[in-house]
Amino acid sequence: MNRKVLIFLIATAAFAAGCQTVETTKESAVGVDRRQHMLVSAEAVNQSAEKAYHDVLAQAQKQNALDRDPATVERVKRIASRLIPATGALRPDAPGWKWEMHVLSSKEVNAWCMPGGKIAVYTGLIDQLKPTDDELAAVMGHEIGHALREHGREQASQQMIQQVGVGLLGALTGVNTQLAQTIADVTISLPHSRGQETEADRIGVELAARAGYDPHAAVALWQKMEKLAGSQPPQFLSTHPSNASRIADVTQDADKVMPLYQAAKAGGTASAGK
Ligand SMILES: [Zn+2]
Repeated sequence: MNRKVLIFLIATAAFAAGCQTVETTKESAVGVDRRQHMLVSAEAVNQSAEKAYHDVLAQAQKQNALDRDPATVERVKRIASRLIPATGALRPDAPGWKWEMHVLSSKEVNAWCMPGGKIAVYTGLIDQLKPTDDELAAVMGHEIGHALREHGREQASQQMIQQVGVGLLGALTGVNTQLAQTIADVTISLPHSRGQETEADRIGVELAARAGYDPHAAVALWQKMEKLAGSQPPQFLSTHPSNASRIADVTQDADKVMPLYQAAKAGGTASAGK
């Protein structure tokens, strides 16, 4: 087949399936500006994520592993309440999302944020890393970065096209059980791509700074993670590869956003509850 005709046919099929090229976040201080191709609508992904999230919570509840320690829940909520308003600088719609955050009792060193702002922090991360508030803000900022950049939707788009083919994608609306499972998989157990990790690192550092958390805490955090990996690699690290170049990149980004951090501190946001 003529190459031009082939490209036209693929483009038409993708368009019919609702393929969109999007810019999920506005221009960021750290320079994240990759355009993304989405085959599944944000609405379908967010509704399915809501189902997936509540399935996880129900399961945790059944195992008596949901929000066991009120002080930790309060801490996670307090940090989120500063990070969430900061998302507006990168995505004006994000502060209005239906954000939820819960603490799951698990030995795993893990945390994640499903599409649309559904956060989970595992007690294993708190117990083993013993993060300061700035370091916990770095973890949560990183996970929120994945959600702002819609990495789950991006990965789901790739998965769904393999599973159901282009033809069915256009019909996906609302809550879809298969999509909910895919969202759970790509958020909780499957690794993000290296490029997505770098974006989440960079956005996380910027969010922390805008929220008045020391952006250099991300450096200390990854160093702690690396140390922990020496004995027994945590889940968080298997999906979040850590290395010297990553730490160097995060340091550079943290240096870049220091003015945002200083402005946030001067604005008084950092004095609250620190
Ligand atoms: Zn990540």
